[in-house]
Amino acid sequence: MNSDQVASLETLKSKLDPKAWSVDPTELSAHTQDWRGRYQGQTPLLIKPASTAEVAEILTFCNDHQIAVLPQGGNTGLVGGSTPQGEIVISLRRMNAVRDLDIANESLCVEAGAILETVQQEAANANKLFPLSLGAQGSAMIGGLISTNAGGVHVLRYGMMRDLVLGLEAVLPDGTIISDLTGLRKNNTGYDLKQLLIGAEGTLGIVTAATLKLYTHPASLGVGIAAVPSPQGAVDLLDFMKSATGGAVAAFELMPKFGLDLVCDHVPGARLPLESDPDWSVLIEVTSGEADRASEILESALGEAFEKDLISDAVIAQSDSQAHEFWMLRESIPEGEKAHGKAAKHDVSVAVSKMPSFMHAASRMAESFDPDIKVIAFGHVGDGNVHFNLGAKQAGAGDEFIEKVKPVTRAIYDLVDEYGGSISAEHGIGILKQGEFAARQSTDIAIMRVIKAAIDPNNIMNPRVLLPQT
Ligand SMILES: Cc1cc2nc3c(=O)[nH]c(=O)nc-3n(C[C@H](O)[C@H](O)[C@H](O)COP(=O)(O)OP(=O)(O)OC[C@H]3O[C@@H](n4cnc5c(N)ncnc54)[C@H](O)[C@@H]3O)c2cc1C
Repeated sequence: MNSDQVASLETLKSKLDPKAWSVDPTELSAHTQDWRGRYQGQTPLLIKPASTAEVAEILTFCNDHQIAVLPQGGNTGLVGGSTPQGEIVISLRRMNAVRDLDIANESLCVEAGAILETVQQEAANANKLFPLSLGAQGSAMIGGLISTNAGGVHVLRYGMMRDLVLGLEAVLPDGTIISDLTGLRKNNTGYDLKQLLIGAEGTLGIVTAATLKLYTHPASLGVGIAAVPSPQGAVDLLDFMKSATGGAVAAFELMPKFGLDLVCDHVPGARLPLESDPDWSVLIEVTSGEADRASEILESALGEAFEKDLISDAVIAQSDSQAHEFWMLRESIPEGEKAHGKAAKHDVSVAVSKMPSFMHAASRMAESFDPDIKVIAFGHVGDGNVHFNLGAKQAGAGDEFIEKVKPVTRAIYDLVDEYGGSISAEHGIGILKQGEFAARQSTDIAIMRVIKAAIDPNNIMNPRVLLPQT
């Protein structure tokens, strides 16, 4: 930052409400490191606007003075996109109001700093469902979830964030406010601008509010865990369960034995759900419009699956708290993995039908590269997205392990290409995947650069993220 920009920051501070900014190192530190502890950054200033008008004023000033900014939500992003390296941080956390709930339209308008869990609860209070659900839902905010086009555990039934946004309000770098919060489900009037901002990782503007799509709240939920012989067995079971439950499967998550062992070792109170302790299990959630019916549907379908040798063991949650316990096991795999040591993470997707063959080929490749590697592959197999992570067999691996397995990472992404998959299923590109993104895209990146230059000609919006530096 040059001396003119330092002086400009002083001017900016003097224009803002004193509550709206901070240079306190303790407060700043929560905003300068990522959740995984992989990226350590720094910022000269944290700004906490309280209104869209304030965001517009800040961006206009920063654009005029060519000051780079980084929008931040809950700072739970996993690809380094929310860690500043000198940019000023604009935290949306004070903008967390519910602006409107429209029951008949099944829509909820909230500000960007609303935490996902709060939004789910707002919807539930109105007997509606906001179906996005993921491990970081107690911290991740709507603006961040939109900007990363988050996925989570219900994509199989309800789609990604992109499918759950009816409209957006956002501020472009020059301070222009675009607003489309009317909640229309049909609007064919040209380019759909909101879709440009969804998944843009803060590179095109700041999302300040969104109108979200709600669904009828299911009258009952059935949650169970079943032992499957292999990932192929999981895909076979998914196919069977979809028809045996009449399309009632809402989530279908693959869990490896090693991942669950790590959870039991490191997360207080966690215990294995199946006595048979299988190598592979799946967590299945089904819903029903009838009270107390979902568990019956699940039980009957799993009974048939057992008869057909698709599963060897199963347990169905007998209460809401047991269902919660099952989900905690699944959601705690990243935490158990983190406590075990550093792991090379690959958030990849292929067609559901190709997932078993991909996992087999990738596992063989990784394990033959180094017998110390332990594959920890888990997640949203129901939508073709697996977190294909490489840990060390021994606990306590550090950065040297990540360095050592780098060639495998490249080979895994090449394999994803062979299978026609994506190297980033749901976490985005950020900083972490820029190199791999650049290595396999050219036309798309060229078009993205044209869009970026048109909307952000001074390149002030999260300038180091997503698009590879030229
Ligand atoms: C334990 C755990 C589990 C997770 N599970 C999943 C999962 O299942 N599925 C999944 O998709 N992700 C998952 N994530 C990743 C993460 O939660 C998501 O990427 C989430 O969308 C990030 O939201 P956030 O508010 O924390 O955003 P941040 O981390 O603050 O920001 C993420 C990106 O969005 C930009 N941004 C933030 N707010 C705005 C805004 N208002 N306007 C413009 N740009 C903005 C930032 O600049 C950054 O590039 C998980 C993370 C953790 C820690």
